[in-house]
Amino acid sequence: MASLLKVKDLNISFHTYAGEVQAVRGVNFEVEQGEAVAIVGESGCGKSVTAKAIMKLLSTPPASYKKGSIIFNGKELIKMKEKEMQKIRGNEISMIFQDPMTSLNPTSKIGYQIVEAVMKHNRISKKEANKRAVEMLELVGIPQPSKRANQYPHEFSGGMRQRAMIAMALACQPRLLIADEPTTALDVTIQAQILELMKELQQKTETSIILITHDLGVVAEMCDRVIVMYAGKVVETGTTREIFEKPQHPYTRGLLKSVPRLDMEKNKPLSPIIGTPPDLLDPPIGCSFFPRCEDAMRICREHSPELEKVEDGQIAACWLHHPMAKTNNQKPAVISQGMGESK
Ligand code: SF4
Repeated sequence: MASLLKVKDLNISFHTYAGEVQAVRGVNFEVEQGEAVAIVGESGCGKSVTAKAIMKLLSTPPASYKKGSIIFNGKELIKMKEKEMQKIRGNEISMIFQDPMTSLNPTSKIGYQIVEAVMKHNRISKKEANKRAVEMLELVGIPQPSKRANQYPHEFSGGMRQRAMIAMALACQPRLLIADEPTTALDVTIQAQILELMKELQQKTETSIILITHDLGVVAEMCDRVIVMYAGKVVETGTTREIFEKPQHPYTRGLLKSVPRLDMEKNKPLSPIIGTPPDLLDPPIGCSFFPRCEDAMRICREHSPELEKVEDGQIAACWLHHPMAKTNNQKPAVISQGMGESK
């Protein structure tokens, strides 16, 4: 399948009073048409910055695109002028946020907001746009959609507002939907309904989804593939099954051990990852996970591992998967002179 989105060697920094924060450091990934991909990792790992970079929603300054490219549907987005980007944003790529009030205008009726979005990108009459707005509200499961279209966001409950935002995001039938923590603020039953809805719509419309989340349960529920980010870098990618069944990076293993699972032994305590991510004002030269890693070796402190193919489509950036370690079934630091020895 052809890639709809290709992110290549993306580097983004923020200029602050304290110095340059290297928020995204050489990120590479692709998303195919119709695929649902999750980007997971702790707060500050660069997942939301990557998503906003794709939408070109970062204010420059303080943000700056240092290096790399974002190719969507064959077009380079980084160099694209804002006027051209406006034709893509909300039309070919849409985004939904954790808090619907960040994208809904509290002073406009819900239906009007959808009509505005539809008319901005399509040559259709107001009557047709009104019809589309009501259809979209119905599609996302809002009861009495014609009546609801005439109401303001404050007259909707949290879950209904989230549905309205999804309706607005999908009204122009985007090829890519980016959902940044779309259900975090909702209670569990509404969360399940919204996820089910997104999954259904994705299957119906062949829309690709990038789901930004720290909730691994949500990932297992609706994504085909997972990208794990740590300290501004991709440290592992694979299919959802691969990541959950045989995670290859110690950080991914740590993430999975820190959340409850149905197949866990009863009363077994969860094990959080001890420590905190590094300061991206001065990122480490070696592996960023080194201070928190139970498998760390000396080489990890001094040299940053590259992403390498581990199995089938699964790739990971960890010295444990160095070819020498695989051949000899030992840690590379132990078997290679000059690499040092185990920590
Ligand atoms: Fe741990 Fe070393 Fe692998 Fe980094 S490279 S995750 S420190 S074993």
